[in-house]
Amino acid sequence: MPTIIDGKLTSSQIKEEIKTRVEEIKAEGGKTPHLAAILVGYDGASQTYVGAKVKACEYVGFESTLVRLEETVTEEELLRKVEEINENPDIDGLIVQLPLPKHISVEKVTSKIRPEKDVDGFTPANVGRMALNWPAYVAATPYGIIELLKRYEIETSGKHCVVIGRSHIVGSPMSILMARNGYPGNATVTLTHSRTKNLEEIARTADILIVALGKPEFVTADMVKPGAVVIDVGIHRVEDASKKSGFRLIGDVKFDEVAEKASAITPVPGGVGPMTIASLLYNTLLSAEKKVYS
Ligand code: NAD
Repeated sequence: MPTIIDGKLTSSQIKEEIKTRVEEIKAEGGKTPHLAAILVGYDGASQTYVGAKVKACEYVGFESTLVRLEETVTEEELLRKVEEINENPDIDGLIVQLPLPKHISVEKVTSKIRPEKDVDGFTPANVGRMALNWPAYVAATPYGIIELLKRYEIETSGKHCVVIGRSHIVGSPMSILMARNGYPGNATVTLTHSRTKNLEEIARTADILIVALGKPEFVTADMVKPGAVVIDVGIHRVEDASKKSGFRLIGDVKFDEVAEKASAITPVPGGVGPMTIASLLYNTLLSAEKKVYS
């Protein structure tokens, strides 16, 4: 049986660590970390994500501010709100929940966020700092994966890491992080995408396979080298009449058959997913303690 890399357990451990640190800060008379989130419109999934982030802030003892704006808000108004939060010395971290309505430029809004408060790690300044291996806020999903590899003591140095998918929020940063001089890192990285030829052959050479392409159960056992470490980022809802909810979650990896070959694997649900909020909280704590930009 492979090691099951348990993101649910790890994320609750991280939350407990953050909670303890916040208690210490408060006991020392320090300022309570404060995260602000801007939510535009009424998208169901976005409301759920933001709600979970606010709840997590409460749990660890952070202060949180949720700014709700109508779907019809102008780009100018939203940029003004971002600026206002940039200028508020009490707020340590700011996230703008995506997606935004079509009439608003994500690039403009993202670049408006002050890098020192960009705890989602989406601004060019933080992506650049990450690439340079400087202190940076690393985006939640890649950071969560790095933390799982670290806490499960997965050897990465000299290994061949194949990343499937090159999105700005997962695949690309993952490839940079795994190649960095450090731990986890020092891997030889192949970044694959929709135009890659012989993907299956390349995947079979991976000691560490990180899958983030957004296609249900795309990676099958014949694409995996025996003993590989497999990280599944995908999340998909499929109908399942046997479940009370009427659906279940699956990943980009065909879990049952791949688990038989892998030495370690993340399940879906309960793998990478739960780590994202823990990463966001961690970045907010870093900001409050001025550990990235000092
Ligand atoms: P995306 O759609 O932005 O990018 C997908 C990438 O996969 C693209 O770079 C594309 O080139 C590549 N790709 C598509 N088809 C391919 C193919 N046949 N072969 C090789 N490469 C191919 O996706 P994303 O935002 O990175 O998300 C990927 C998956 O991860 C989705 O299922 C998403 O829901 C999930 N996700 C999960 C979390 C989490 O917290 N667990 C966070 C972000 C995304």
